[in-house]
Amino acid sequence: MKILLVEDELRISQSIKKGLEQEKFLVETAFDGEAAFDLASSNEYEVIILDLMLPKMDGVSVCRKLREDIVHTPILVLTAKGELEDKVSVLDCGADDYLVKPFAFAELLARVRALTRRPKLQESAILKIDDLQLDTRNFEVKRSGKSIDLSRKEFTFLEYLIRHKNRILSKEQIIENVWDYEADVLFNTVEVYIGYLRNKIDKPFKDKKPLIHTVRGFGYRIGD
Ligand code: CA
Repeated sequence: MKILLVEDELRISQSIKKGLEQEKFLVETAFDGEAAFDLASSNEYEVIILDLMLPKMDGVSVCRKLREDIVHTPILVLTAKGELEDKVSVLDCGADDYLVKPFAFAELLARVRALTRRPKLQESAILKIDDLQLDTRNFEVKRSGKSIDLSRKEFTFLEYLIRHKNRILSKEQIIENVWDYEADVLFNTVEVYIGYLRNKIDKPFKDKKPLIHTVRGFGYRIGD
């Protein structure tokens, strides 16, 4: 089953498509409202990700027309910050959920997963590596049973690392998946956040082996 991604900004579209494909979704793209409507009414998709401001036909109209045509595919609307007053019309038009830009890919993925009708992957809410555990329902992080306070960004970053544990992740990959699409994030920012995470999950546990590793010239890896 496929996802239809309707987003007219090429850079954002490519970035979301790549991220979803890494998560094993098949993705088809449309760049204007009419093309989106044609595709969505003639193909079966698991979820439609629909930007609001689109050429030819806006997202609310696409959504309304699809529902009039009895297309019940779950729709996740993407709205820009200033368009938040559209919230009511977004839900009125028959969309199932919406996400305000800019957002982190992890947030988009969570919403898409929530909307997919496929049986949930055997994915536990608790992610673990060694004696570190992260509960994605209540944002609790513990190492050796001791609670660790993380900011939201630190949490998203750590979650991304743990979901890809024992793999080397480049700074580009990290920025694409952990930061907002529209933010200009420098490699330096990634290094700073790696420092914050080390100070919280490795440094206070001196008798334990460090979990975050720098792989010179490549990036970072979490694991033993
Ligand atoms: Ca747009």
